Amino acid sequence: MARYIFITGGVVSSLGKGLMAASLAALLQARGYSVRIRKFDPYLNVDPGTMSPYQHGEVYVTDDGAETDLDLGHYERFTGVASRQSDNVTSGRIYQQIITRERKGDYLGATVQVIPHVTDAIKAFAQDDVDGLDFVLCEIGGTVGDIESLPFIEAIRQLRNDLGRGQSVSIHLTLVPYIAAAGELKTKPTQHSVRELAALGVSPDVLVCRSEQPLPDGERAKIALFCNVPKEAVIPALDAKSIYAVPEQYHAEGLDREVLKAFGIEPGEAPRLDRWSDIMDRLENPEGEVTIGVVGKYVGLPDAYKSLHEALIHGGIANRVKVNIRWLDAELFEGDEDEIAARLEPMHAILVPGGFGERGSEGKIASVRFARERNVPFFGICLGMQMACIEAAREGGLTSASTTEFGETDVPIVGLITEWMSKDGLQQREEGGDLGGTMRLGAYPAKLTGNSVVSSIYQATDISERHRHRYEVNTGYKDVLEKGGLVFSGMSPDGTLPEIVERPDHPWFVGVQFHPELKSKPFDPHPLFASFIEAAVKQSRLV
Ligand code: GLN
Repeated sequence: MARYIFITGGVVSSLGKGLMAASLAALLQARGYSVRIRKFDPYLNVDPGTMSPYQHGEVYVTDDGAETDLDLGHYERFTGVASRQSDNVTSGRIYQQIITRERKGDYLGATVQVIPHVTDAIKAFAQDDVDGLDFVLCEIGGTVGDIESLPFIEAIRQLRNDLGRGQSVSIHLTLVPYIAAAGELKTKPTQHSVRELAALGVSPDVLVCRSEQPLPDGERAKIALFCNVPKEAVIPALDAKSIYAVPEQYHAEGLDREVLKAFGIEPGEAPRLDRWSDIMDRLENPEGEVTIGVVGKYVGLPDAYKSLHEALIHGGIANRVKVNIRWLDAELFEGDEDEIAARLEPMHAILVPGGFGERGSEGKIASVRFARERNVPFFGICLGMQMACIEAAREGGLTSASTTEFGETDVPIVGLITEWMSKDGLQQREEGGDLGGTMRLGAYPAKLTGNSVVSSIYQATDISERHRHRYEVNTGYKDVLEKGGLVFSGMSPDGTLPEIVERPDHPWFVGVQFHPELKSKPFDPHPLFASFIEAAVKQSRLV
């Protein structure tokens, strides 16, 4: 039977709970255990799919087409275990499920309540789809004390009883702030937060204490005493120099050992962490550096492009170079050509990422043009590929080329797709239909042309990548675009949906309709990102 690790946070948010969960899972995995990480989000949206990237950061998409919290991206990058729909649930989804059942009369006249109905639904979610696993890590979003997270904490309390002794461990992540004026680390917020959690019936077995200064032994002992845990189970967690240094750092502080001990499992031999030391060696001892310009819309909040940021770093790991990312606001590229050139000239490669809406699109198209004309490596992802196709059409004389996403156009190079085949059968959508969960979502196969640039990058002609978009490049314009030098080198297996375009006459010019960044791992960089950064390295030697 799977053992459960419940992870809560206290004092403040943004302490790196997701990273802690991902790192602990990676450490348990390195010890030979099978793991899965789940995220419980207390907000009322059914999923983060309709939330602004500014509010919530990136929407992470799983193979099975779920739009999920970006923490699932960390989980996947650290463990290599592909996340699923069943790994992320929100209060909104739970209530939606319950209210749908209530309307059908499934509760047979009972009064529907938070306890037991909501808590039962949360428990069912935690226990669904866990066959054969050694450990299930459940991260509760938000901070203990939030009204919204109460049903989740209550569900954990019940579940810990249901599972029985030794079958679950509770980890609480808190902040130990440093008060400069007093020159001291303060343990009181941690004590209060643990008391609040304990009052809800969940006593933590392990405390992870984030601080900016090393935690002195005396403070560690004090936290242990007041919070009712062994001193060794108070794990200090200082800021790390890279997120990929976090697993080794937690191991050095004894996190995995203490968690196993809390389960009554003899920790045994230390895990082999070569994978992580190799990554850190490559990050800390680069043999060069490149600067990549990312021309996008949500550049004010780095979390909006979380996976993209990581995938570019992975490309650097693959080539042993430092990757400097310049987040460039697409709206700055709408004016004068000389000004655009001045901004883009320092870049060794240009990337136009995914996005929604018209704002900044002319700037994105101008950046594509700059990259094409100047032979600068170019990578277009999702909306970025669509912009590359529109740029090619305009270059070929179709000056009003556009996408129906931005309004009516007489040259719809990119258009709304209302019907396509998926592994679950024919998918159909209506114009003006619901926005939530109605895109082409999740993993779809693609066939690559045998002698294309991308087939040599992938070393394969059959690939599968994750999608999240509503519009598609219109194959009606394929011939026109190919005449202009843009080759459709990847298509859906039935040949109807363009998946990849490339320019064989350019040093590196690839547009993909999917999101390769979602599948890149630090220990297994995505081939497209590895190749793109390699092209940037070549470019850096030219300038
Ligand atoms: N807005 C575009 C579409 O829906 C692209 C989406 C994206 O880049 N993820 O097709």
